Amino acid sequence: MNLVIFGPPGAGKGTQSKLIAKKYKLYQLSTGELLRGEISNKTALGNKISKIINDGELVSDEIVSSIIEKFISNKIYKRKLIFDGYPRNLNQAKNLDELLKQNDQKVDLALKLSVSLETIKKRILERKTQEQRADDSEDIAIKRFETYEKSTRPILDYYKQSNLLKVVNGEASIAEISDEISGIIEAI
Ligand code: AMP
Repeated sequence: MNLVIFGPPGAGKGTQSKLIAKKYKLYQLSTGELLRGEISNKTALGNKISKIINDGELVSDEIVSSIIEKFISNKIYKRKLIFDGYPRNLNQAKNLDELLKQNDQKVDLALKLSVSLETIKKRILERKTQEQRADDSEDIAIKRFETYEKSTRPILDYYKQSNLLKVVNGEASIAEISDEISGIIEAI
């Protein structure tokens, strides 16, 4: 099974991806982590993309596609991938379908961890430290949340049309969310 996971910053997407990967022996493919790895290893690609990533911009579709293609075409990961951070736009979603198809695979499930802005704000406040002004980090968090929700809407609609989208209540505890996801996976 290949799955795609979505959720705004603070929704617990990373935590849940790791839990699912462990439980179902899948591989978490985080494009953000892979790109940061290229930068810290100072590869030619890393040097090319470091400014883009540091400025918070998106790397080109071609670069990210070439990275995920290596995993999709590798038999070790066949039907065992959790895509975390990919796709980020409709072009990438269509490209993912194409790459999987070429390798006799498909997206079997798209999961969205749904969390309200109020909860995200509460989580930030709980985390706030002396050195950091809560309102600063709250402003940034609100901006990130809104940008995320807006930019992923067309991709979620895309998966909804194919009947692949399942929305999970991200307000619950880590264990409860994980149980809900397990139920969805096991029903496929
Ligand atoms: P993330 O850890 O998912 O927030 O990703 C960190 C950074 O990596 C992003 O701000 C982008 O610059 C880049 N990145 C990660 N995934 C993608 C993607 N699918 N398309 C374009 N850029 C990406």
